[in-house]
Amino acid sequence: MSPSAGVTYADVQDAAQRIAGVVHRTPVVTSRRLDARAGARLFLKCENLQRAGAFKIRGAYNALAQLSPQQQRAGVVAFSSGNHAQAVALAASLLGIRATIVMPHDSPASKLAATKEYGAEVVGYDRFTQDRAAIADALAQERGSVLIPPFDHPSVIAGQGTAVKELLEDAGGLDAVFVPLGGGGLLSGSALSVRALAPEAKIYGVEPEAGDDGRQSLQAGEIVTIPTPETIADGAQTTALGRHTFPLIRDLADGVLTASDTELADAMRLLAVNAKLVVEPTGVLGLAAALRLAEGRVGVVLSGGNVDLDRYARLLSD
Ligand SMILES: *Cc1c(COP(=O)(O)O)cnc(C)c1O
Repeated sequence: MSPSAGVTYADVQDAAQRIAGVVHRTPVVTSRRLDARAGARLFLKCENLQRAGAFKIRGAYNALAQLSPQQQRAGVVAFSSGNHAQAVALAASLLGIRATIVMPHDSPASKLAATKEYGAEVVGYDRFTQDRAAIADALAQERGSVLIPPFDHPSVIAGQGTAVKELLEDAGGLDAVFVPLGGGGLLSGSALSVRALAPEAKIYGVEPEAGDDGRQSLQAGEIVTIPTPETIADGAQTTALGRHTFPLIRDLADGVLTASDTELADAMRLLAVNAKLVVEPTGVLGLAAALRLAEGRVGVVLSGGNVDLDRYARLLSD
């Protein structure tokens, strides 16, 4: 294990204790028809049924719960147009912390509404002319608030690792685990859990074909940055792995795979028909690759279910 990365399985265990009773222990679902399709026995970890609709609450709550009383009083800031925003907003409201979320003016109305419903203050910005990180930094400076990043933070990584910890405990004896990959918080946390609980099992991250910076980074041996990829997997449109996530993935994961947008839509359709599960495009990245490659007993994280219904219907019917 890379000491430079600074996060260990003990941190995942601590996170599990911190989030217990607050974050759902989501079900692990199986489907004989999906198994027949994959030629493997699949165990689906349903983070689409998680609070706020995705695994992100695990890392957000774990990070916020560890702030000092003084930091909690000063509030937190995050920038995100997606699931991290809602996760930080919900975690903050559960802990009685003030949250400010920097989101583009043109975010989907449902996401803006959900973030505000959890009690967060939303600060808008123009995606084309303004730098959201700079805005968030300035806000944090001005208010003395802590900035909570979406993936590149030790407490966030440790929190995300709890999903696969639960999956391994509940499904047992897995040969491989497939998880979606964006900035790598989920994959690095998952890799910590696999190496500790099922050292012989393989752990793969799956990113969009159009945004394979993770695969490129592993090949190059350093973090490769790409332009924002065009893909229906809006939760994995990241441009680079992080300073904390890259070394963990390099040292602990067995590889990075990709899935095309067509495969993602197919996997969403299969889940709806066979398992009656609504999963967002990013959430089926792991399943899409598992359908192609899985053998034996295989764990798959369905990472989230936040997708507008009209968009969902369009993706399924195309
Ligand atoms: C954020 C997110 C991901 C990617 O997670 P990383 O930790 O950035 O790799 C995957 N799926 C969903 C649903 C997400 O919200």
